[in-house]
Amino acid sequence: MKDITTDRRSNLIKKNVGDLMREMFSSRISEVISEIIRMADEIGCKAYLVGGFVRDLLMKKPNRDVDIVIEGDGIKFAELFARRVDGRVRTHKRFKTSAVIFSDGFRVDVATAREEYYAHPAALPVVEISSIERDLYRRDFSINAMAICLNGKETSMLYDFFGGQSDLKDHVIRVLHKRSFIDDPTRVFRAVRFEHRLGFRICEPTLLLLESATREKLFEKLSAERLFNEAVLILEEQKPEEALLRMNELGLLKFIHPELCFRVESNQLMNHCKETLVWFELNFPGREVRRWVVMMMALFDSLANDCRDEMLQKFKSAKKILSCPLVNLAKVEAATAKLHKPVVSPSFVGKAFENLTNEALVFMAAKQTGEGIKALVTSYLTNIKDIRPFINGEDILKMGVSPSPIISNILEQVMEAQLDGKLKSRHEALKLADKLSR
Ligand code: ATP
Repeated sequence: MKDITTDRRSNLIKKNVGDLMREMFSSRISEVISEIIRMADEIGCKAYLVGGFVRDLLMKKPNRDVDIVIEGDGIKFAELFARRVDGRVRTHKRFKTSAVIFSDGFRVDVATAREEYYAHPAALPVVEISSIERDLYRRDFSINAMAICLNGKETSMLYDFFGGQSDLKDHVIRVLHKRSFIDDPTRVFRAVRFEHRLGFRICEPTLLLLESATREKLFEKLSAERLFNEAVLILEEQKPEEALLRMNELGLLKFIHPELCFRVESNQLMNHCKETLVWFELNFPGREVRRWVVMMMALFDSLANDCRDEMLQKFKSAKKILSCPLVNLAKVEAATAKLHKPVVSPSFVGKAFENLTNEALVFMAAKQTGEGIKALVTSYLTNIKDIRPFINGEDILKMGVSPSPIISNILEQVMEAQLDGKLKSRHEALKLADKLSR
């Protein structure tokens, strides 16, 4: 057993937060929590609210990610709870965690109070059942390591063992013990993310541990997938550019690629991307854009092609995350090169933008300041992309053309004429196709 008093001293401060819960919870959250309490009482176990949900409650910020820890059998609790609320349950036996998903998509994460051991730095932890105190001790930062007891004698009691409330008050990010970053280096990225999300600062002793973890190159041991999952979370934040400037300053970006940096120009580009995302979402509300993809494109924009290839090579297991922004970047570069003509016809725009995702369109408009590309993107999305062709392959076959690439060639030429307004009807399209097929 670890001695939990050696680092951040365990010193329980309790506080009843019933009034705050009543003030802050929506009726939906209150209903769900009442149901959790009933279930825990029936089974005879103790249930706690934990993690970011408690942190945000104390900061009076709304949060719908209900995170529960059960002192007892969390998996059994989740199964019974899912049945009670007519939801589904997804269980991860190794980590003793479950997610209960209601029919309307609302989700409650349920875990068994557990402590974790790390066989070696950056390994996935070995998990053992424990008390709430030890469960909280395995967490990343003091502000995320508080719990609210939901049932029994101490209902609505906040349990703060590691000075979380005082760190919230002082706006400080602090790890709970010296080995924290060694056990799990993703915490380095989480520290920077929370620092900028909450407007806090990493306190001096934690910063020293973080710098030492960076010197020891602990991230090299981290799986690429976990590393880039953290990067995605940072890029999804409201102000990713601030976190990236900080990562640059802390020397964290060089673990992604030695040439990768984030300075004034990248900061400007990311800000343009943010503005363009707002413009895009306002003008094209039904079209989905993944924010992190656009932001990752901005992050990797300054990297030369061979560096991008090296990065893909090094982080093979994160290919699913990395290839999307990298492929998009290559396509944007190719499309931009084509658009250097003074006047471009709709059919030309259609061809140049063909296969560009919404993320690529946003990035392209962000990169070329001025209204030019925005106007082309608007014209492409409103008049070109979804236009239905007057004719199809069947029509050409009926003209007696045998199946061959000639058919797609004719269709392409007819579509070009249609996009450029040279054809007004299906009849005119058929006439042109007939002429081209002779
Ligand atoms: P967010 O608002 O971004 O979801 P969160 O604090 O809820 O923030 P999660 O990633 O959902 O973050 O994790 C829930 C809780 O699990 C955290 O508050 C923290 O207590 C714990 N946790 C998550 N990741 C780690 C980690 N790498 N090491 C230790 N504890 C962690």
